[in-house]
Amino acid sequence: MGTIYFFDKHVKKHLMKGTRAVNPSNSDVFSDGVSCIREEDVNLWFYTKAGITIAFDSGHRNFPNVKREFEKIGINANDIEHVFITHVDVDHAGGIDKNGNNIFPNAQVYIGKDEEQYITGKMHRMTKLGFVKLSVGVSLKQGYILLSDGQVTDVNGIKVEAIHVPGHTLGHMCYLVDESILISGDCLAINKNGGYPFFDFFTQFPDMNKKSLVKLRETLKNKPVKAVCTGHSGYREYGQSTFAHIDETAVFDKKIHFDEYAPEDYTKY
Ligand SMILES: [Zn+2]
Repeated sequence: MGTIYFFDKHVKKHLMKGTRAVNPSNSDVFSDGVSCIREEDVNLWFYTKAGITIAFDSGHRNFPNVKREFEKIGINANDIEHVFITHVDVDHAGGIDKNGNNIFPNAQVYIGKDEEQYITGKMHRMTKLGFVKLSVGVSLKQGYILLSDGQVTDVNGIKVEAIHVPGHTLGHMCYLVDESILISGDCLAINKNGGYPFFDFFTQFPDMNKKSLVKLRETLKNKPVKAVCTGHSGYREYGQSTFAHIDETAVFDKKIHFDEYAPEDYTKY
């Protein structure tokens, strides 16, 4: 098991306990074709139109009880033919890691073009203690499609626009679906006061992420966006507050809770 996989599986839940930093939505069906699955601290998102469902992110590798969560929202993972990955961190791309059980065995995979360097090992994901370079840990089988900023993919009448939002990782993508649903991955952390740049600890280039959020706000201006589907803050309505605090930094601490409505222990739900 790689270092980041070990951290994700065994360390993160203890580090995050009591900080109320993450507040994913429970597995559920929302309006406008949106549904999600919760895997402890993270959400995978789905969009359904005219009988076709596409997926965004794939959750953790070999997450237990994932079948039960799919049953809750009435989606068969084998029917998913397209999965768009926001970034290749273990909690977003672990579910399609070739060294685990692929939860979307029949899906074409899409990632941002600048994200591939983590998979090939050309780029490390984190530097800790000033010199220890950790690799992302995820391996993908060949055949994924690389997306560029602004590229639009039409999936049976569903419009998916890739918006490059580098910072959390270099190839991090947001996806705007049918002009109305924003899949935001890990660029934003949102609480009742609105959106903040995602937590520095997990963000590879925090200043770059802040700049990217300004660009994202501009890109979405005048678009009829209704909802933001986040990696770790659940389902949020889109509005004035979505980018309200992007010049600040989201902090998590056992004393300063980021989101008073977030669970104390995300493994219990
Ligand atoms: Zn994440």
